[in-house]
Amino acid sequence: MTITVRFAPSPTGQIHIGNARTALFNWLFALKNDGRFILRFDDTDRERSRKEYADQIEEDLAWLGIRPDYVCRQSDRFDLYEQAVEKLKAAGVLYPCYETPEELERRRKIRLSRRLPPIYGREALKLTDEQRRAYEAEGRKPHWRFLLPNFDTDPFEPQRTEVHWNDLVRGPQTVDLASMSDPILVREDGTFLYTLPSVVDDIDLGITHIIRGDDHVTNTGAQIALFRALGAEPPAFGHHNLLTTSTGEGLSKRTGALSIRSLREQGIEPMAVASLAVLIGTSSAVEACPTMEALAERFDPASSSKSSAKFDPAELMVLSRALVQAMPFGEASDRLAALGIMGEKAETFWLAVRGNLDRVADATEWWTIVNDGPAAVGLSEEDRAFVRSAADLLPDEPWDEGTWRTWTSAVKAATGRKGRELFHPLRLALTGRDSGPELGLLLPLIGRERVLARLRA
Ligand code: GLU
Repeated sequence: MTITVRFAPSPTGQIHIGNARTALFNWLFALKNDGRFILRFDDTDRERSRKEYADQIEEDLAWLGIRPDYVCRQSDRFDLYEQAVEKLKAAGVLYPCYETPEELERRRKIRLSRRLPPIYGREALKLTDEQRRAYEAEGRKPHWRFLLPNFDTDPFEPQRTEVHWNDLVRGPQTVDLASMSDPILVREDGTFLYTLPSVVDDIDLGITHIIRGDDHVTNTGAQIALFRALGAEPPAFGHHNLLTTSTGEGLSKRTGALSIRSLREQGIEPMAVASLAVLIGTSSAVEACPTMEALAERFDPASSSKSSAKFDPAELMVLSRALVQAMPFGEASDRLAALGIMGEKAETFWLAVRGNLDRVADATEWWTIVNDGPAAVGLSEEDRAFVRSAADLLPDEPWDEGTWRTWTSAVKAATGRKGRELFHPLRLALTGRDSGPELGLLLPLIGRERVLARLRA
């Protein structure tokens, strides 16, 4: 059987690094098991779901290196949910309820005051046909609840009914179906809540492993019961811990905070985001993995802790910088070309400057400096004279990485300057910067003619 996983975001906002964690746990699981990855948009909430968000999510995933084998939308699949509703009704496990939210709240308070668990008491199951007709005549429309299989013969006598699963992340789990209310599957207006479409799709799409955030643990018991009521064996489940900011706040799609898009716009490397999103809150040290394969090697869902994982966005920059500074030219070349950095010198240029960059895009500043010279050079009169005299000692071409040393040794011997006094004015004249890539590497890239012009300026 092909391992099949899915990432099922609702397209109601920008996905953030916490959502990326879920997507990546699934992607890496598929990668390691030669499995399939399905992107499913949970867009049954027509009010809040937007196509722009769905498109953005696909783009964000592609940027992270996630390429779904199949993409689908729940809004295209309503027929399947209707069929499932009919099946459940026919089996007598989906029943109409007419309570208003106020009535439910009143009952909940009464149960609490009697020290009873505040779960739904299945009062609607007791309604006679006549009472139902009376409600409908009043204009009330029913919502529909799934009758949990937590009783022997009498639904009003629920009994402890344990559902077990061996969670890929959390290990053996048990929930008691008698401790929860029959979930509402269909609202008064005929729209579906998340539970039924999700289970129907997981069956229809052949999902073998559901990996998602641990905010869904309590849903799992009822969902397992629903899989069975629909005649399917439930898949395996894994619930990973959630990410929070350093101050312990949860992340939200709606605020756009730490959205994948904003990280991308800040020039953070995708594998820095992926490495942090996957490795934080696990027993593995957070390190920048340069490829998805390298990250897959480190990925072990069972090593995630059970409590939420705090992360510091500043760490993203540290990881990103490490990736940029070690990035082979082959990997950077397309992006450099898009920045206008190409030609025969592009590779030596990249190898010369990468160690000084925070972001790949920052290479353009150095490309401009190498090719067009510094915008402004603040040299004292005395240093300017020194630099001019140094120009006369420039070796002839061809130049290589040793030219800088040959040249500066000659300048040192001729002028008596050494250390910072010797090097700093030359660096300033050539680059306009106090610091930067090794001049031994930059000098041949700038070339004799341009170096002379800068020294004699
Ligand atoms: N749309 C649900 C969510 O974003 C999916 C949960 C699941 O993976 O089952 O929370």
